[in-house]
Amino acid sequence: MRHVIIIGSGPAGYTAAVYTARANLKPLMLVGGGSPDRTLNPGGQLMFTTEVENFPGFPEGVQGPDLMAMFEKQAVRFGTDIEYATVTKVDFSHRPFRVMWEGGAEEARAVIISTGAKSRLLGLPNDTELLLKGWERTCATCDGAFYKGQELVCVGGGDSCMEESNFLTHFASKVTVVHRRDALRASKIMQDRARKNPKIAWALDSVVKEFVPGPDPRKMRGVVVEHVKTGDRREIAAAAVFVAVGHLPSTEVFRGQIELDEVGYIVPKQFTYTSVEGVFAAGDCVDHRYRQAITAAGMGCAAAIDCERWLEAQGGGHG
Ligand code: NDP
Repeated sequence: MRHVIIIGSGPAGYTAAVYTARANLKPLMLVGGGSPDRTLNPGGQLMFTTEVENFPGFPEGVQGPDLMAMFEKQAVRFGTDIEYATVTKVDFSHRPFRVMWEGGAEEARAVIISTGAKSRLLGLPNDTELLLKGWERTCATCDGAFYKGQELVCVGGGDSCMEESNFLTHFASKVTVVHRRDALRASKIMQDRARKNPKIAWALDSVVKEFVPGPDPRKMRGVVVEHVKTGDRREIAAAAVFVAVGHLPSTEVFRGQIELDEVGYIVPKQFTYTSVEGVFAAGDCVDHRYRQAITAAGMGCAAAIDCERWLEAQGGGHG
């Protein structure tokens, strides 16, 4: 039986691994098996990012996959056991907890969940390729500053899209909001703020159909959008498309085992505790507010400390 199993391998999971390993808890980490829809992918969302400029400690920036490789190396250095598997079932109804995956299962006194959330994408057949090229982007806070003086598109009609479009106008010369209906879902105050922003243009009742490369084929020139009622197509100039159409927490496997909210986020109790004593949660699977690598890493650290103290209080030692 393990002291602790960590499920998920983004910044939250690897930080929890470093801390629990250094506390001599010999964690097992299930890093995900990888899948085309990016669910439980080893390394998490940063594997689909290019340059990361806002992770402290890297003044020149770092490539997302390189950062995750360093996270893994550090976790392994202190004795984390890594299993390249996606969890298929858990039993948190009694302790020790049981965690199962294809071809394996283990029991543990405690579990840290750090399975993250994936941003919803446009739904184009080449979404993953567009992400890897940096043409389709999912985090304005992270990547907006790359586009000083350029034109951008932001897709969505909710509060996130209003907030991100406004934020992007701090850098971009113009941001066109593309939304699939003529009515926005966003709250009135957020809509009003966006509508008053002279740098925001609107393409309502419209969907992105195609990305158009520029003269330098590594860069995009714009997108073709289609009006959903008339079928008319037009090109909108854009150096990138920020997609703000919601997030899906990767928590389906925990349904019925711990408390989730209506969207599927894990409901936090005190600090990183969940509704099941001995099960802790960190990162984007529980946090829908900040969604940053550094905040996820911070929560991973907190979950590891909460977990260690809880185990200590249970007795049985670390050996
Ligand atoms: P929402 O679910 O509120 O909005 C998602 C938007 O994306 C909707 O307008 C939806 O269109 C559109 N959409 C969904 N799928 C697609 C698709 N495949 N193609 C094109 N468009 C699509 O998500 P948000 O992330 O905006 O917000 C999540 C929650 O967080 C909300 O409760 C929101 O209020 C809250 N929030 C609050 C903020 C604040 O108060 N400062 C800031 C950000 C978020 P349609 O409307 O047609 O369904």
